[in-house]
Amino acid sequence: MKDIKSIRNDFPILQKEVYGRKLIYLDNAATTQKPQCVIDAINNIYLNFNANVHRGVHALSDMASEEYEKAREKVRSFINAAKKEEIIFTSGTTGSINAVAFSFGEKYIKRGDEILISHIEHHSNIVPWQMLCQRKGAKIKVIPVDDSGQIIFEEYLKLITDKTKLVAITQASNALGTEVPVKEITEEAHRHGIPVLIDGAQGIQHGTTDVRDIGCDFYAFSGHKIYGSAGIGVLYGKEKLLEEMPPYQGGGDMIKNVTFEKTTYNDLPFKFEAGTTNFPAAIGLARALDYISELGLKDISSREQKLLNYATEKLQGIDEVQIIGNAALKIPVISFNIKGIHHYDAGMILDKLGIAVRTGNHCAQPALERFGLVGTIRVSLCFYNTTEEIDILADGIKKVIEMFA
Ligand code: PMP
Repeated sequence: MKDIKSIRNDFPILQKEVYGRKLIYLDNAATTQKPQCVIDAINNIYLNFNANVHRGVHALSDMASEEYEKAREKVRSFINAAKKEEIIFTSGTTGSINAVAFSFGEKYIKRGDEILISHIEHHSNIVPWQMLCQRKGAKIKVIPVDDSGQIIFEEYLKLITDKTKLVAITQASNALGTEVPVKEITEEAHRHGIPVLIDGAQGIQHGTTDVRDIGCDFYAFSGHKIYGSAGIGVLYGKEKLLEEMPPYQGGGDMIKNVTFEKTTYNDLPFKFEAGTTNFPAAIGLARALDYISELGLKDISSREQKLLNYATEKLQGIDEVQIIGNAALKIPVISFNIKGIHHYDAGMILDKLGIAVRTGNHCAQPALERFGLVGTIRVSLCFYNTTEEIDILADGIKKVIEMFA
């Protein structure tokens, strides 16, 4: 792997100061910073070949379409999908999950059916299913988690019934850091013929993801959490299911033929890409995937795990800090509270020290309620963070404690 100094030099924003202090960015689970090559790739589109994709017969449109389809192929190979047709560009994880909730839901969910989710889902993997259940008279069932924040596998098994029509589960919890055994969950669901959707928003950026190895039927992720820009996401779906599902949005590009009486839909993946997609962001995402592939996903993962262990030990060394979520397998996310100090107050003081952390419920209210909490402070690390930054965080936390003493 490149040395950390040159990695950090790839990210212009990391050289910034806030309030006259060096920026320490520890909010990577909310969104990651962008390397110069991704910024350049997006700039390059607007400077050199901006035109709508799949529409024009002219040179610029051809170039944009070609780059867009190359980006699709890049995503396919990155997650090891079988076919390019199984890769649908959406607006983000939220967009991808809603697409499945409407489209799969329309076709397959009926009154009395059950959808299994876990207690540590992001709101994006709860609310679309609730909305679907309201439309169809179906029901959500929730897989409980233990005190470490890991799902209880035996309880999962007990919840599967002949009414279960989908398992929708996160690969990793944004609120607690728990890495969920998605492959085992998928295998078990498939034993009963139940399809599985995986929310990969917090999983894909931390290691190698192979959708065929996991075996999942749908996989969703966001470009902005994996060093690409906002406004782009991916929905992977197995071809057979995508073929059977109706489109969830109508408009340009998703059609073959339109009359006032009848429309025939386009082939995959275009059937699910109505209107002008965020093609510059898709092309930027492909560059981001190249960038992290060049760094090496195994090296990224091992560096991040070292940072996680270092930060966990540092925070455990502060008596007033209580970490929530101690699963054996974790992404580099640490959620914690400081005894007697509100998480917002702590977050605001840390901010003034140049340290960006997230505070609140992390869009996972039920996950925090499981631990009797309304919020935490969340530190989320990635490969460009350093142990020095973690030291400064620990000093900052001690300062917060002194101020409130
Ligand atoms: N799922 C998880 C686990 C997340 O962490 C997030 C973002 N915090 C989302 C879904 C939603 O992602 P987006 O807002 O990019 O659609």
